[in-house]
Parts: sequence; structure tokens; C-alpha cells
Amino acid sequence: NTTDSSQILHPRWVRINTLKTTLEEQLESTFAGLERALTVDAVRKRGSKHIFIDHNIPNLVAVSSTTDLSKTEAYKSGAIIFQDKASCFPAYLLDPRSEDDDIIDSCAAPGNKTTHLAAILQSRQPDPNGGSQKIHAFERNYGRADTLKRMVSLAGSDRITTIHAGEDFLKAKPEASTYKKVTSLLLDPSCSGSGIVGRDDMPELHLPVPKNNTPLPKDSKNKKQTKVPDPTKETRKRKREDFNEDLDVMVDDDGMVTAVDTVDELNARLTALSKFQLELLIHAFKFPSARRITYSTCSIHAQENEQVVLQALKSSIAKEQGWRLLKRADQIRGLKEWPVRGDIEAAEGDAEVAEACIRANKGDEHGTMGFFLAGFVRDSNSVEDIG
Ligand code: SAM
Repeated sequence: NTTDSSQILHPRWVRINTLKTTLEEQLESTFAGLERALTVDAVRKRGSKHIFIDHNIPNLVAVSSTTDLSKTEAYKSGAIIFQDKASCFPAYLLDPRSEDDDIIDSCAAPGNKTTHLAAILQSRQPDPNGGSQKIHAFERNYGRADTLKRMVSLAGSDRITTIHAGEDFLKAKPEASTYKKVTSLLLDPSCSGSGIVGRDDMPELHLPVPKNNTPLPKDSKNKKQTKVPDPTKETRKRKREDFNEDLDVMVDDDGMVTAVDTVDELNARLTALSKFQLELLIHAFKFPSARRITYSTCSIHAQENEQVVLQALKSSIAKEQGWRLLKRADQIRGLKEWPVRGDIEAAEGDAEVAEACIRANKGDEHGTMGFFLAGFVRDSNSVEDIG
């Protein structure tokens, strides 16, 4: 009963965790027997025995989603991490280089981007146990902070990660001495989740831990937290198909999938989310040593994306502190070459802003989830410009 379109699957993107292994090692072990493909298309067929090595993001491969890797030693030991290609963009764009500057990951659980940052940092340190660089990983929700701890530990990034469990990034004091060496911030706030393709692409769920052990959050302010989704059930997918095309699956601010029933509800939700997202960016602009910031969402909605960026650029703090967009020409190679850019209409006709913004479309030929990313930079006299 299969149709042609059902044969084209979303690829299974796999990040090779260089804190624990190398791409070469994995090609010879976990992926031995798979034939190298030149395009991602080859791994999108049911039962494909191909592997695609990504051209944009280092140490990222794709295989068919019908290839079960969840029982492999590499997955269980954290040597490979299931992470959508687009979800690998932010840490790569942030491009942390200096050996003693700290980083903040403001919205960290379950830790895909935190552990990616850690891997990039270590690859740039000549001595794997050296360097005093730290990642401050904030996670407001206690239950999700537990998940973050497990992922950080499994991925081997504990040494350089300080987890701020249950801490609201918006309450972190930019002037505090703890943050005086913070030069880069990665902001990946809660969003509508409208770019998520399906259950397999929920970055939150990519953890080899018993799902029914997910602890309930201690913060009981949001009653919806009790609806912990069971990733082993098919309900999420079926529900999605039941929706009217004007409606969407939403992820509430603790990453849980919720639904809205009307377009008005959707708009109200987007307004609330974008207010929070802008607040987060403005707060990040205040860190005195900060030179680079990435802002990302897995949303397809302009309101959470280009619109937030435009408002942030117009803010008085951005102007006072000299924050501007990281232009395409100054982006790291793999993302400079990435062709899908911001939406010009959403950027209110500003072609430069649209070009600086990075998008990924759900379900197009690149095989990614729907995603948005923008980088912000400012120059400094005291810190060497790493742009
Ligand atoms: N960056 C994560 C990854 O790649 O694995 C996904 C982050 S998820 C989209 C957003 C997370 O931010 C949620 O776990 C949520 O609980 C947390 N969060 C939301 N607001 C926050 C705040 N003000 N301070 C700290 N964490 C927050």
C-alpha cells in the first residue's frame, strides 16, 4: 500500500562525537558495510544501504532512517549522537576559537548543542585535558536539567561544562564575575517547534536513556509539564496528521508538544514566544565581554525568526553596545556556502538582513528540519576579533 512519496524518508542525521571517537573510526565500525553516497537523496530511500558524509557540517553523516543504530555500542556510549543537520548549525556558526574564553548556552537541555560546542572546543585545544575554557549551560526546568546532565556526561563533555540546573538565564547577572570571560553565547530558546518534522526529529528525545524514567519537573508553575510525551508512542504523528493545515503542533516553553485549536490561538502563542525570545537576545547583548551570539529556533514562523532579529537590531542596547548581524561573507565556510537564507519579506524587504539569516526548510531536497539561525557580532578593542 505504499505510495511513491512514502518511499522518500527524512534522513537519519548522525553527529560523530569527536570527544569520544573520530569519523574514520566510525566509518570502519558502526557504518562498515554502507556504501558512500554523493548526495543525501541516496539515503532517503527505505532500506538504503548508503551513508552520506555532509558537506556543510564537519563530522556529520546521514543514513536511512530505516537503519537502526539505537542498539549500537557507538550510540549507547555517546560516540554518535542523533542530531538533525540544521540543529548542528548554531554551535558551528558560533565557532568558538580562543583557548580561554567562556561560552553560555542559555537554553541547554537536552544538550545537543552544548555537547556539540564542547566537541568543537576540544578539537581546537592542543591538549585535550588542558585549557580553562568553560561552557555555562543554563536549563530552567529541573527535569530537563537532569536529562542535560545525563547527556553531557554520556558525551564526555562534563569536564568543561558547568550546568546551571533550574536557573533562568534571564536572571543571570551579566556583570557577575562568574561570567566575565564569557565571549560567546548560544541562544536556542523554546519556540513553537513548527519546523520539527516528526517524532524522530525532536532533538529533545534523542537520548539513549529509559524514557519512562524522565523525572517530572520540580517547577510546577506550568501545569502542562505533567504531560510528558511518550516518544515510543505513535500518537504524536497521528495527531499531527489530524490538524487543519492552518494549525500547527506547538512546543510549550518546556519543550513539550502542545496543540493549538485556532489561528488566533496560534498567533497569541507566537506573540508570547517572540516576546520571550527577544528578551533573551536583549539580555545576551548585556554581557560585557560578549563578542558573538547565535540565535536559533526550530520554527518556520517569521514572527519568531527574522522579526525577532530585526527588533533586536533596533533595540537601544544593540545600538549602544555595537551589536550587528554576522554577514554571510563572514560566516564559517560550511554556512557561508549554505544556500537557504532568510525570508526577504519577513525581513521587511531588507536584503542584507535576509542574506545574513540562515534558514533550513522542512522537507526540501536538503533533508533537514525547519530551522532558523542568525549570528550577531560586535567588535572590541580589548578582545581580539575572531570574526
Ligand atoms: N539547545 C537544546 C538542544 O539543542 O538540545 C534545545 C533547547 S529547547 C528548544 C529550549 C530549552 O530551554 C528547554 O529545555 C527550556 O526548558 C529551556 N528554557 C526556556 N527558557 C529558559 C530560560 N529563561 N532559562 C534557561 N532555560 C530556559
